[in-house]
Amino acid sequence: MKDIFCRIIDGEIPSSKVYEDDDVLAILDISQTTKGHTLVMPKKHYDDFLSTPPETLHKVLDVAQRIGQAEMAILGAQGVNILTNVGPVAGQSVIHFHVHVIPRYLSGDPGFQITMKSQDIAAIDMLSLAESIKNKMEE
Ligand code: 5GP
Repeated sequence: MKDIFCRIIDGEIPSSKVYEDDDVLAILDISQTTKGHTLVMPKKHYDDFLSTPPETLHKVLDVAQRIGQAEMAILGAQGVNILTNVGPVAGQSVIHFHVHVIPRYLSGDPGFQITMKSQDIAAIDMLSLAESIKNKMEE
């Protein structure tokens, strides 16, 4: 079965389009976490950030950057969160790669927060961890 974003891309479900070209679609997120919350996605289906080919990834990120710049300029936002979730455990609810562009406001911001808690790093062998990731990347 098609995911909801494939259905939007195919015109089966309406959306508020912010940007469209042959490869990329950007729409306002239905949740509007903050005013201007936008989703940028490839038209071709890939499940997530990690499985999207670099060329497509770069096109999506280029559009996300331009939307962030435009929103900072016209909406009075003082910052922006650019984020993408990979997998349900990381909060991905629609399995079709997309980047969230979430403008942030000094006043009137509903208070969306990403909190990164620290672990006890004494329990982690940091050098060996870094080395093992590096080695896998170089395979
Ligand atoms: P995720 O949780 O996968 O990172 O983000 C999915 C996003 O898609 C959510 O923020 C949700 O509000 C948005 N969304 C889900 N269904 C629709 C829809 O039908 N239209 C639009 N515009 N956004 C949707």
